Amino acid sequence: MQERQTEEKSHLYDMRLEDLRRWVTGLGEPAYRAVQLFDWMYKKRVSDFEEMTNLPKAFRAVLRERAELQTLEEVTRQVSKKDGTTKFLFRLRDGSTVEAVLMRHDYGNSVCVSTQVGCRMGCAFCASTIGGLVRNVTAGEMVEQLLACQRLLDGEGGRVSSVVLMGSGEPLENYDASLRFVDIITSPEGLRIGGRHITLSTSGLVPAIRKLAKERRPLTLAVSLHAPNDELRTSLMPINRAYPLARLMEACREYWQETGRRLTFEYALLGGINDQLVHARELAELLRGLPCHVNLIPVNEVPERRFARTPKHLVRAFREELEKQGIPCTVRREMGSDIAAACGQLRAGHAAIEV
Ligand code: SAH
Repeated sequence: MQERQTEEKSHLYDMRLEDLRRWVTGLGEPAYRAVQLFDWMYKKRVSDFEEMTNLPKAFRAVLRERAELQTLEEVTRQVSKKDGTTKFLFRLRDGSTVEAVLMRHDYGNSVCVSTQVGCRMGCAFCASTIGGLVRNVTAGEMVEQLLACQRLLDGEGGRVSSVVLMGSGEPLENYDASLRFVDIITSPEGLRIGGRHITLSTSGLVPAIRKLAKERRPLTLAVSLHAPNDELRTSLMPINRAYPLARLMEACREYWQETGRRLTFEYALLGGINDQLVHARELAELLRGLPCHVNLIPVNEVPERRFARTPKHLVRAFREELEKQGIPCTVRREMGSDIAAACGQLRAGHAAIEV
């Protein structure tokens, strides 16, 4: 296993409980210390070894010298006046920045986590990809994004009940770290987030979808479709050249067969481009026979990207056409529109301020 080390220090948020066990026994400590540490890290959400009072002083000294917890620094926190959506911008150790968003719904609190700094997928409507890919986010850095949101909720007696890997980046390009993150946050000895409440969103990396299908983790897979035919999809999402729709749909069917989990398809409505009734019919045709759900997303207007919003009555018509064709469908409710909570917008805005 690859564990991060800076100045010889191990990053404990990168570790599953079994990794932590191996690490503490490697230091000559009894294995149960790992459970104690995990408890402090995830149940008490303490990130200062000195506060871990049931650990022997000598072991705390070793931890101080050999291990690291907090590596993310909060740069800004914006709170939506409309719905309480909170968007964090964090600085990572190497100076790059990522965002995470905490959303409050009537069914619970969800957190949107970034899996890469920037992105190299090149989708035409997305802000995250504008500066290209900087680097992968580590599992521990994803865990820290989530913990920051949970600590905010701790002050209100609330908890994070669902997690979406839908921030900046392509999680399936950062496969191992994304899965390790899922393992860490679902651990019964830790945060205990239900696997069924975790959604991983991909632009459609076919080999990775097929690999994920065999992992037997109870995730929901969301696939960013955004177009019902290859010509249109390729013009919006360059990844479609490598993995055109026929192959993508085949991988999605395999995912359903292997996991028994219904898929979600994301479809951003881009005014005048993919939002006509013919597109709805073509989409229904493409998805026919596959247990799935379509999430229509009114496009978030990104200043650098000139896409117009589909008017409300056309959004309704598109949804009704899909439903008429037997495809379950919802329109994503907009959260935090007054704080530009769409992917990449805060980071991009911050970079613009910095230059
Ligand atoms: N790379 C992954 C996950 C990150 S993006 C993926 O492509 O799925 C999360 C979702 O937001 C994707 O469906 C993405 O296509 C969508 N998205 C990106 N920019 C958007 C915008 N300006 N308006 C609406 N949705 C957008």
